[in-house]
Amino acid sequence: MDSSLTAYIALVSVSGVLNLFLCLYAYSRRKHLRGSSIFILYTFAITIYCFAYAIALTSSSMEQMLFWTTIQYIGMPAASPLGLLIVLQFLGVEWNRKKKAALFIIPSISFLLVATNEFHHLFYKSMNVREGMSLPFVDIEIGLWYVVHGIFTFSCMFYAFLSLLIKWRETLRSYRLQLLVLLFGQLVPMTTAFLYLIGATPAGIDPVPLVIWLTSALYIWAIVSSNMFALMPVAKDTLFNNMREGVIVLDDRSRLIDYNSSAQIIFPKLNLSMIGQPLDETWKELTDSSFPISPQKEQALFDFSLEHDNGHATYYQARTSLIRHRNDKIAGSLIMMIDITEQVKLQQELELLAYYDGLTQVYSRTYFFKLASEEFQQALHANKPYSLVLLDIDYFKQINDNFGHDIGDQLLAYVANLLKQALPEPAWLARYGGEEFVISLIGHSSDQAFQLADRLRELLANQPMSIEDHTWNVTASFGLSERSSRHDQSLQQLLIQADQALYEAKRKGRNQVVMHHPN
Ligand code: GH3
Ligand code: MG
Ligand code: MG
Repeated sequence: MDSSLTAYIALVSVSGVLNLFLCLYAYSRRKHLRGSSIFILYTFAITIYCFAYAIALTSSSMEQMLFWTTIQYIGMPAASPLGLLIVLQFLGVEWNRKKKAALFIIPSISFLLVATNEFHHLFYKSMNVREGMSLPFVDIEIGLWYVVHGIFTFSCMFYAFLSLLIKWRETLRSYRLQLLVLLFGQLVPMTTAFLYLIGATPAGIDPVPLVIWLTSALYIWAIVSSNMFALMPVAKDTLFNNMREGVIVLDDRSRLIDYNSSAQIIFPKLNLSMIGQPLDETWKELTDSSFPISPQKEQALFDFSLEHDNGHATYYQARTSLIRHRNDKIAGSLIMMIDITEQVKLQQELELLAYYDGLTQVYSRTYFFKLASEEFQQALHANKPYSLVLLDIDYFKQINDNFGHDIGDQLLAYVANLLKQALPEPAWLARYGGEEFVISLIGHSSDQAFQLADRLRELLANQPMSIEDHTWNVTASFGLSERSSRHDQSLQQLLIQADQALYEAKRKGRNQVVMHHPN
């Protein structure tokens, strides 16, 4: 036997031993390595392939050679579809049983045709020992099925390779080394098989078993160093995508690297092309606003809402938190979002109840302080005039005493409505106390406010409330105050001043308007 052949057989055997070792290793750790069964089958198939090929190369007769070639075809045709399944599993691509089983139709036919080749010559048209040489230098003329088998084997490897490439961008950076290893692992036999198929390698010698040990070595490295199967996205797929919270995963530079099904439901615009994009950019596309906080904080909360085409809004609470490596280094961050629309609506309803006075249907005292403070601040910053009018119904106790509380109530509602109807924008009215009302007048100087208050006073006095054939005359006294140019003045002080003026109006005989004067 010539020495280069001996070396070749030795290398193929080493490749077989390595694969067997890998296979046994995966088998012994099958409980800890998730999804190891396909890997065990894969390495087992390659082991058969390598050993049978090595033995075939040592054959001394054509029958012997054909026998070991048949054995070789138990393993070899199954290797590339099994390799594809490993890659798909790593990438979290789910194939059903039927689809997986369909992958093994062509390999099974290949095996059967090789075993029965002498009857139909569909795999090898002819096999002849090369002139001037001894076995294993055989010139083969390939048959139809040999081409089918070749294309199928190559397609599986190419499909696996492409799948890995496509997933590159959306793969967590911490998984990328495995991805690279798997890519390279695919590339090695793929290139060699391609060279073999186009006839660029010595005829009669299959170079794939020679290099397949490299693929195996890469796998063993990937498995031992990073526990490839334990990190597989299988668990991620079920857990991550079944979470009710929407989750967005960012890397340490706040770029989008993953999201789950719930996040996709929250943001229908979210798509795979956004993977790798900075969060700010993505968030703007999704919500029309910039991301409100830094995602690099240990933990933070914020609320946001999304408007729908039908005018309704959905409200969310988002929580961000950092993800750390075991060595405490920051790996990235998570944004988790839950739908809080129900709570927000309930809160809005409660606010509505608190903001409106049930009897008179004008703003409540609570809402007066909220809204008036805002307008007061606004006037202060824009240096606009701002006036307040406090009014109190005259001799209201008598109405209650003489006609009953119910008529008193009706009169209150009547007065509120009359005043509300008569107020020009942007003035508004609130019930300040029992039968006291307050009017906020942004943009009104005290003179304008005085005119308005006097008009209201007249209106009330001239329009008694009538129910059936009964009428009730009603008047009110008004006190008003205006914001001064002093910046330390508060809304509270303005209210006190208006109250002093109101007191003065009562003192002077009621049914009149009094403006507060500093002295
Ligand atoms: P004055 O001109 O000095 O204001 O005389 P008045 O009788 O209006 O005196 P005062 O403002 O002190 O009396 C307010 C009365 O308003 C006392 C209270 O019984 C009555 N009141 C307060 N809230 C309500 C209410 O919601 N419904 C009814 N019917 N009466 C109320
Ligand atoms: Mg009163
Ligand atoms: Mg009164």
